Amino acid sequence: MSVSERCHQISVNLSPINSFELGFLGKKQLHRLVIDKPNEFAINTPKLSQDLLRTVSVAHLIAPYFPEIIETNFGIEYREFIDELYKFYGYKTPTFRTSDERVKILYKTKDKEDFSQISHANAHSGGLDSVFRIVNNLINKESVLAVHLQNLNCRGASNEASASSQQCQEWGVPFENIKLINSTESTNFDTMRTRDMFLALVVGISAYKYGVKDVLIEGGMSDDPSQCQFTEYTKAWEMFNKMIESTGLNLEVKGVDPGDIETIGEILKFEKELGIEILPLIQNCFSSPHQVGNNRRKWERETPVLAESSSYHWCGSCYKCRRMSLGRIYYADPKLGNISQNEINFFVRDTYQWMKNYPHNAVLVSDSFKDHLESLNR
Ligand SMILES: [Zn+2]
Repeated sequence: MSVSERCHQISVNLSPINSFELGFLGKKQLHRLVIDKPNEFAINTPKLSQDLLRTVSVAHLIAPYFPEIIETNFGIEYREFIDELYKFYGYKTPTFRTSDERVKILYKTKDKEDFSQISHANAHSGGLDSVFRIVNNLINKESVLAVHLQNLNCRGASNEASASSQQCQEWGVPFENIKLINSTESTNFDTMRTRDMFLALVVGISAYKYGVKDVLIEGGMSDDPSQCQFTEYTKAWEMFNKMIESTGLNLEVKGVDPGDIETIGEILKFEKELGIEILPLIQNCFSSPHQVGNNRRKWERETPVLAESSSYHWCGSCYKCRRMSLGRIYYADPKLGNISQNEINFFVRDTYQWMKNYPHNAVLVSDSFKDHLESLNR
């Protein structure tokens, strides 16, 4: 995998007042990764887990560049994490330097408070897969905490946060929102070099006080390093879980892979079993809010039942919205009760045309998606 701009040295600085505020001056701007309002974050958690988080944050900041020298103004632990990241992408491991003006790391402790025990923590984005993980725990009558990282993905951040909070409120699931200031250049597909490990560890540290035994994230990891990014690689997670264990955090990160279109079928079953609304609360559209109305118009005209019964943040035309529609049609969502064959045919034809017109979407389209669409076509 190629890296756009490799550079010689990056000096990452830690703030003297917020030990979860890291940044460096890039060519054009300051790149920062900050846990906003850090006062309540990581209190009474193992120091090593906080050290590991700083290392993963450094990795997330520098991952677009793979500098030969990484300079920090604090003692950086778990360098082997960054070494493994470099090796994965075929680079020689970096040289670490500590600058002369060292910043003291602040570890916060407080009198111990009692929190009720919760079994699982879910890395909750508000989208289909994270909702599936929550609901699966509700079905199994296991307690679950949802932790949302606001601004982890730059697009649609405040919508995701409010949808996540609304879902959890409706389902009676405890919810925590961790707000980030994020001006890293770790974006798009390349964000997966480091993103999910940062996500999992922040969730784990937030959930430590409840004694959770695992952090649930999106699964579907790969055994083939040439076909995936670092945080999609099974062996990288084995290594990372060992590191987490060595910090004393007492939890494991687990990937949950419910399939793709099948997930929607499962959730429809859950809706029936639990007697609650789930699908309409899912925030799952790639279009920005101002585009939704415009994209929807075609569907309102051609597929009125489908459009009418879709949630307000459904544009109909992006991959995520097509995935939702396909699953609902295939698994016969009762809300689509009287959908006509004409509507279904329109959806199928239009989706084949869309796959042809926008080949860059092909990387998103799963085999499950193709198989389900093909079955409807027959
Ligand atoms: Zn959409």
